[in-house]
Amino acid sequence: MPNKPSPDSSAPPSIVWFRDDLRVDDNPALAKAASSGTPVVAFYVLDQKADRPLGGASLWWLHHALAALQTSLEPLGVSLILRAGDATDLVPTLVSETGAKAVYWNRRYTASGIAQDTEIKATLKRNGIEAESFNAHLLHEPWTVQTGSGGPYRVFTPFSRAARAAGTPRQPTPAPEMIVQWSGKANSLELDDLNLLPKKPDWAAGFRDMWRPGPEGARANLASFITDKLSGYPDDRNVPGIEATTRLSAHLRFGEISPREVWHAAEIADAPRDSIFKFHQELLWREFSYHLLFHYPDLGSANHQSKFDDFPWADHTTGEGAERLRAWQHGQTGYPIVDAGMRELWHTGWMHNRVRMIVGSFLVKHLLTDWRVGEAWFWDTLVDADPANNTASWQWIAGSGADAAPYFRIFNPVLQGEKFDGDGTYTRRWVPEVAKLPKKYLHKPWEAPINVLRDAGMTLGSTYPHPIVDHKTARDRALQAFKSLSETP
Ligand code: FAD
Repeated sequence: MPNKPSPDSSAPPSIVWFRDDLRVDDNPALAKAASSGTPVVAFYVLDQKADRPLGGASLWWLHHALAALQTSLEPLGVSLILRAGDATDLVPTLVSETGAKAVYWNRRYTASGIAQDTEIKATLKRNGIEAESFNAHLLHEPWTVQTGSGGPYRVFTPFSRAARAAGTPRQPTPAPEMIVQWSGKANSLELDDLNLLPKKPDWAAGFRDMWRPGPEGARANLASFITDKLSGYPDDRNVPGIEATTRLSAHLRFGEISPREVWHAAEIADAPRDSIFKFHQELLWREFSYHLLFHYPDLGSANHQSKFDDFPWADHTTGEGAERLRAWQHGQTGYPIVDAGMRELWHTGWMHNRVRMIVGSFLVKHLLTDWRVGEAWFWDTLVDADPANNTASWQWIAGSGADAAPYFRIFNPVLQGEKFDGDGTYTRRWVPEVAKLPKKYLHKPWEAPINVLRDAGMTLGSTYPHPIVDHKTARDRALQAFKSLSETP
């Protein structure tokens, strides 16, 4: 038998272009490069022009996610080449610098991302370079789940049924055991050169306390969720005062953990079937958002229901509208549950899902502010800001989306606070000004008698704001505006 040729580290390499898949496990593009037997070069381009530029909180996360990727690639003998600029030029440039014969990547689903990938693939193929893409981000890619007539779904429940019927997601695969090291050299920026972290002011102190970006942090979250939280998930997930969810959203957003790994970890957990089902449904909401984004590429910028184009949004750029928007952004609306959510967001880069719905509804319905304004604020401040989940969720809240909340569903921030944060654990934590109020008045300080306010160390309008809008007046105004729309054919 002839000897197997030993791997040649000076042979033309394969490039793995990392994007939203910052992991070595269950990464089909990396697996393909490793199995080709050629040396492997790992590449990341910070391209803030081709696709929507990342917001501040996401850039903070990205810095740490890239550092973690470097750490995972090191034992495999692969170094990560970092560059910044237009990937449309930088990918072919690295190919010619390294003499690579192939480029592999995992797919993304935004219109601009797809357009760039298509262009790069065409350039590479024209030059005789192999270019192949894979699915690492989703359980089911958007075109694989179809209605009976072959179109996209616009309603979640039938989508989720069809996604389940499409079959169990395949098992995740481990990181490659062996990768041929490349003996060549290519210039790389240092991670710090990408300037992803805030400097002056350094607003990320609260982020550092809460998060461990990278696959290890993701696995730790997943493990503690499966052991301690999954069984109670269907009810506890709605209570912001308890840590009852995975907090995996940013890890999933940046692809530090595979959705297939998360799905299967729950599938085999020792937990009631209905808890597992409910958790899988949430993963399917993420799939549904991507399904919508792919089939309706302007989901992030245009009302999915075009009749909303005539909606009488308030002017948020000047005067009272601008002041109210600022109060919302800074957690100074005078509604404690809304303010708690907005402050949690500012300090940690994350907000509990129930509270996202409350603050979103407040902005769109109580303040009649265009959902795109809220979406943009979330895009800048969330560590998990996701091109599909964020836009689909905001459209859902506004009522302009595909499977949207009905217009007359206007969350009452007092009742929502009392129902989901009855003992006030969450609100007292994030809004210390109201922390000493008794339960009865915690979510409506304006109804507290003067002596109760005094005992709680509060003066409305001084230590804590009066409500910026009256709930009933705002509700009636919103109903009026939305009703006129619902009468539009
Ligand atoms: P878990 O309850 O542990 O759920 C597990 C995973 O399922 C999540 O990590 C997420 O990937 C997915 N998921 C859960 N709920 C939803 C949902 N309602 N829609 C889509 N996917 C879901 N999620 C984002 O990942 N990025 C965003 O930018 C984003 N923006 C949102 C904006 C608004 C206005 C609202 C109402 C929701 C938004 N969500 C977004 C959805 C949801 O709030 C977060 O995914 C969830 O709070 C993340 O916490 P978790 O990881 O602990 O969730």
